[in-house]
Amino acid sequence: MFTRETKEKLGSRETPFYYYDLEMLKETLSVASGEAANRGYNVHYAVKANFNPVIMRIIAGYGLGADCVSCNEVEHAIACGFPPHETVFAGVGKSDREIETALKIGIKCFNVESAEELEVIDSIAGRMGKKASVALRINPNVEAHTIRHITTGTDENKFGIRITELDAVLELMKEMENVHYRGIHFHIGSQITDLHVFRNLCTRINELWQWLTDRGFEPEDINVGGGLGVNYDDPDQFPPFADYFDIFKNHLDSNIHSTISFELGRSLTANCGSLITKVLYVKPGASETFVILDAGMTELMRPALYHAYHRIENLTSEGPEKKYTVVGPICESTDTFGKFIALPETRRGDLIAIRSAGAYGEVMASRYNMRSLPESLFSEE
Ligand SMILES: *Cc1c(COP(=O)(O)O)cnc(C)c1O
Repeated sequence: MFTRETKEKLGSRETPFYYYDLEMLKETLSVASGEAANRGYNVHYAVKANFNPVIMRIIAGYGLGADCVSCNEVEHAIACGFPPHETVFAGVGKSDREIETALKIGIKCFNVESAEELEVIDSIAGRMGKKASVALRINPNVEAHTIRHITTGTDENKFGIRITELDAVLELMKEMENVHYRGIHFHIGSQITDLHVFRNLCTRINELWQWLTDRGFEPEDINVGGGLGVNYDDPDQFPPFADYFDIFKNHLDSNIHSTISFELGRSLTANCGSLITKVLYVKPGASETFVILDAGMTELMRPALYHAYHRIENLTSEGPEKKYTVVGPICESTDTFGKFIALPETRRGDLIAIRSAGAYGEVMASRYNMRSLPESLFSEE
């Protein structure tokens, strides 16, 4: 992925920074949106994965909708070219102000996560003389078989309306004058690599569709969420979009005529981004050799937050391989990118790429230790 010219360009900049390969982003988007369109599916982009405006504008250019989890994301998505009528707003804790603003903008719908939230939306919409479109986010109690910290669709999670509460929510909704029921929404977790999990989701959706339709709540839209995983071992591999969409094509009941939407985040942006950093020191430890980088958990938090693995490449050295523990400069022991990682012999000043960092990377950067926020560089600059 890194040609000699690219390495020279990267090496001449002050590190650390995020580097985005826009060709790779466009190829990913073209495959994902093409495979979805072939099957009659809609794709929304989950803005929280990467809200860099350059990335966002490119994604909007492929005709995707936007899936937002705060009103700032809603406003930012629209400023970057996503149409308001293709923008949805999810999240367990929408504030009154956020609901008001989203109603003013006229978004496609709110993905509602509790009975209380539904009541608040109804009353705010009533006060404003508006009708709020809503989809019910249902917690389908499907195990995502992913990292425990990023599973969202089981009964133990804070997300969504539990199936046992659904009846009561429908009864409540029947009485409401200021909400328009559009459909249902699911999102069971992230970085799901066992595609079988999505088959289980389809089974649950089929049951629910029937149950809702029998009660006069046939959904116009079914939003199945995101969660498709990427291969962190092989950053140049594309996510299996065709296989993923086929699971829904083959396992959702053929009598379901609702619009089917997906909300992809990680699978669209992870691979195109790398965190570029330099080696500050190589320090012998008691049982390992530490490579100390000028980037840490403040630039890329995933390893510290949930022991996530990112492939680390030394772009400078071609020396014999050795094992290193790669760490950042932050005053936390969890500020570690990998233990006993094989790298070509590494020295102070070597340029390092931490790969697949285009999703949940730059957006999670923090100023802990009073660090500066990372800048970004694009392949076409
Ligand atoms: C985070 C999120 C997504 C995107 O998940 P990915 O695993 O990045 O595809 C989709 N929908 C909702 C509601 C989310 O919170």
